[in-house]
Amino acid sequence: MRPVLTRRRFVAGSAAALAALGSRRGAHARGGVVTKRTRLVMLATGGGPRPRTERGNTAHALVVDNVLYLVDCGSGVARQLVLAGIPLPTLRHIFITHHHSDHNLDYGNVIMQAWVSGLRTRVDAWGPPPLEKMTRLYFEMNAYDIDTRIADEGRVPLVPLVHAHELSQAGPVMQDERVKVTATLVDHPPVVPALAFRFDCPDRSIVFSGDTNKSDALARLATGADLLVHEALWVAAVDRLVARVPNAATLKKHIIDSHTSVEDAARVAAAAGVKTLVLSHLVPADDPAITEQMWIDAARPHFKGEIIVARDGMAL
Ligand SMILES: [Zn+2]
Repeated sequence: MRPVLTRRRFVAGSAAALAALGSRRGAHARGGVVTKRTRLVMLATGGGPRPRTERGNTAHALVVDNVLYLVDCGSGVARQLVLAGIPLPTLRHIFITHHHSDHNLDYGNVIMQAWVSGLRTRVDAWGPPPLEKMTRLYFEMNAYDIDTRIADEGRVPLVPLVHAHELSQAGPVMQDERVKVTATLVDHPPVVPALAFRFDCPDRSIVFSGDTNKSDALARLATGADLLVHEALWVAAVDRLVARVPNAATLKKHIIDSHTSVEDAARVAAAAGVKTLVLSHLVPADDPAITEQMWIDAARPHFKGEIIVARDGMAL
C-alpha cells in the first residue's frame, strides 16, 4: 500500500530537504523559507549599445540581505530591476566597469528613478574617471526636475545622497558588513581604465569581467570564485553583425581586439578554477543562428565546471 503523503507532511519534508540543500550552499532558512543571502540577477545580458527586443544593454544586480549592489547601468536598468522585483530604493552601491554607453547610459537615470521611487538614503558610485564629473553634470542637467520635486513633492534633496568615487587601479574598492569588493584592470582598448570586479559575499564569491580581451589579471582576480560572469564573443558571427552598419571594418577591428571569444572565456574560467562560468554580455546579442546550446558547446572543451548562458532576468 502506498503511504499517504499529506500536503502538510510534504511541505515539511520539502522544507527540510531545502534547508539541507541550503546549508550545503551556504544559504540559510528564514521563517521556514530557504533563501540565499546573496542573489545575482542577470538584468540585461547583451553586448553592444543598440537597443534590442531581447538581451538588453549590460546590467547585473547583486542583492545581499535585500541591499542592492548594481554592476553596470545599461539603458533600461531601472525597468529591469522593477521587472525582477527588486525595490529601487534598496539601491546602495553602483559599480561601473568602464565608460562605454552600453554599461553606463542609465547611470544617472537609475539613481533618479530610485529617488522618485522613494530612495532617501546614501548611494555610493564607483568607477573610472570621469565618474565624478559625470555625476555632477547629470544632476546639473536635471536640476529643474530635482528642485521641482523637492519643493513640490516634499522629497529629500538628492544630490547630497550620492557620492562618486573614481577608480584607476587594481586593488581593494570598498568593504561593508555584507561584501568586500576588489577590482583589477582589464584590457579593453581603447577604453582605459577598464575594470573587473570581485564581490566576496557572505555565502558566495562572484566576479564580473566587464569588457576585456583574454585577461590573465582577470583570471587571477577570479581565482577560486564561485561564479565568474564573463563576456563572450562569437567570433564567426562578427561579419554578420557588422554588416548592418556603415563603419563595418573599424567596428570589426574593435570587437575582435577588445573582447573575449567564448572559447577564451572558458579558458579563463578554467585558469581561475571557478565553479561556474556565466556567459553574459553576449556578442552578437540577438543572432538567432547562435543558440544557447552552441554557446555551451563552444565553451565546454575548455572548462569542466558548470556553464550557464545568461538570459535577461535570470536569478542565480
Ligand atoms: Zn565596452
